This record gives sequence, structure tokens and C-alpha cells, in this order.
Amino acid sequence: MSVRIGVIGTGAIGRDHARRINQVLTGASITALSDVNPEGAKATQAAVAPDATILATGEELIASPEVDAVLVTSWGATHEQYVLAAIAAGKPCFCEKPLATTAEGARRIVDAEATAGRRLVQVGFMRRYDAGYRMLKAVVEREIGRPLMVHAAHRNPTVPEQYVTPMAIHDTLIHEIDVFRWLLDDDYVSAQVVFPRVSSHAHAKLKDPQVVLLETAKGVRIDVEVFVNCRYGYDIQCTVVGEEGLASLPEPMAIVVRKEAKLQNAILTDWKDRFIASYDVELQDFIDAAAKGTASGPTSWDGYVAAISSDACVAAQEAPGIIVPITLPDRPALYA
Ligand code: NAP
Repeated sequence: MSVRIGVIGTGAIGRDHARRINQVLTGASITALSDVNPEGAKATQAAVAPDATILATGEELIASPEVDAVLVTSWGATHEQYVLAAIAAGKPCFCEKPLATTAEGARRIVDAEATAGRRLVQVGFMRRYDAGYRMLKAVVEREIGRPLMVHAAHRNPTVPEQYVTPMAIHDTLIHEIDVFRWLLDDDYVSAQVVFPRVSSHAHAKLKDPQVVLLETAKGVRIDVEVFVNCRYGYDIQCTVVGEEGLASLPEPMAIVVRKEAKLQNAILTDWKDRFIASYDVELQDFIDAAAKGTASGPTSWDGYVAAISSDACVAAQEAPGIIVPITLPDRPALYA
């Protein structure tokens, strides 16, 4: 039986997820769309989901008998209300990051799902589905001994003027925050931020670059350079240093060119291209679990821990050099 999916929020990623569900993946189809901007929903319907009904609100979509599972791809501040409504309706729900814009909001989702007693929520941390990170995890677990350190970088060529210093955590580092917990099977105990000399390309309300230092419960030390006006490209780096060796995230596939006395390969410039294949894998996982009435992959708990850890990193930005402790509550049995 095909899973009937409704999409709340038909902007950039909502439309693209609707396209992949209708045109690329198997086992599901888009039956309903909703957006505060009805023109956006109509455009998505015309482009990729001709059989979908447009519903006035996200709540109507969640309640619709034509919808078995829900994709929440609206603006971040609206995620919590829709995820809670999907849990209340007992419908599997894929929620783009962030799960909620506050740790308290994410906690309400964890509590609601734990009370429901079964996994219903998958959070859109797609890097866990990236082939490169999966290969890296396999090597880290089997070949380089106990991990001791991680050196990483998240670099964007440029960001718009609305991008301010805390967004380097909430919008950018959030992906590293989740993927390193998964990669190392560990949790954070502290965060510290230090600011090098500011790039002359940074905007007035953005300190760029910054270095985030994380410590894990097992004692691994992680340094992440976040540099969002690096000019040269969109570049994600990650090297894990273990007791027996090092393992690095592979570079994206690129043609090697030898020309005019230079050896070159291109670097991506658009973040959308970097993890494009992982979105297909993550949503297929969502469909497969939703067909069984449940959810898989990154949990509400992961979304909650990411929110707590992000808040600590923002507090660390506000007190440069100070080590901010990260304390997690007990993990509910559902997420053991
Ligand atoms: P976007 O293009 O602005 O799309 C968001 C859409 O949601 C817009 O059409 C917006 O309408 C609509 N919307 C806002 N409030 C709504 C509500 N209450 N009910 C229904 N629709 C509502 O943004 P986006 O780039 O697609 O991002 C959407 C979410 O995905 C964000 O949380 C973002 O962080 C996340 N995201 C994740 C990744 C990833 O790599 N995992 C990548 C991109 C985005 P208006 O335009 O009229 O406000």
C-alpha cells in the first residue's frame, strides 16, 4: 500500500521533498499540500504534485483522512505545533530541522511522543544518510581505534545580510552538532567559542569566522571552524583522529583536470548540491517506516539534544573563551 503524504510548507525544501516523493522514491505519493501562502502550494501542485489537494491549514492537513503521514517543511518557528498535532493524530511525521526553535519546545515533543509510546517523528538531519559520513562512521568504529579528536570545518562562500552571529550555530553548526553525536556515539558535556580576527567580508552583525570547541562525555575534543564568508566554496571537512590512525570525510566526487600547468578539481559552491543524494535516502527511510505506522532515523530526542547543545554554543558565543557546561536530562526509554 502506498503511503499518502501531506506536506506542510511548500517553500524550497518542501517542494523538493514533494518532487522526490512523487518522482524519485517508491512507496508513497503526495496527496495534500498546505502553505500560509496558497500560491506557493498551487505552484508546488502544478510542478510536482498534480493529484494533491490543497488544504487551508496544517491542522486540516494532519486531520485529513487522505493523509497517512506528514512532512513539516514550513518555517522553523511553526514546526512544534505541527509535530505535536501529528503525534496527537498518531501519524508519522518527518520534521525538517529544527525540531523546535527552543529546547523547551523540543522537550514537549519528546514528552508527547514518549506518552504515545512509539516512534512517530523523524528529524531532518540528513547527514546521517550521506554515503561519505556512513563510510567514515564504519571506519571510525572498526579501523582507527578509540577516537580522540575531531577537526572539522563548515564553510560557506557567502551568506545574506540577515545572517547574524547566533545563526552560525542554529542554522549552520546544527548539522555538525547532530552528526558528531551519531558518528562518535557520544554526547557533549561542554562548549566553548573563540573568535579569530574577523574577516573583512563579514557583515556588521556577524562575527566570522568562529571556532567552536566541544568536549564529549568520552573525552573526545572537537574543534569546528565555522566560516560562512570564506569566498572560495561550500566546503565540509571532518577528520577523526583515533589511537591507531586518522579517518577523513571523502571529498565530493569531482573531475580532476590537468591543464595549463595546473592540477585542479572543482569545489562546490551551493550547499544544496553537497548532500543532495542523502535527502533521497532519508525520505525513503521515512516512507518505509511510515508504511509500518512508525518512524526511523534521527529521533525527537536527537532534535532535543541538538537544541540543548545549540543553546550552550550560543551562550558560549556570548561569553567568548568561557567553557559552558552541557547537561542532558535522563533519556526516556523510547529512545534507548
Ligand atoms: P522557505 O523556502 O521559506 O519555505 C518555507 C515555507 O513555509 C514558505 O512557503 C512559507 O510561506 C511556509 N510557511 C511559513 N509558515 C507556515 C505555516 N504556519 N504553515 C504552513 N506554511 C508555512 O524555507 P525552506 O528553505 O524551504 O526551509 C524550510 C525548513 O526546512 C526550515 O526549517 C529550514 O531550516 C529547513 N531546511 C533544512 C535543510 C536541510 O539541509 N536539512 C535545508 C533547507 C531547509 P511564506 O513564504 O509565505 O512565509
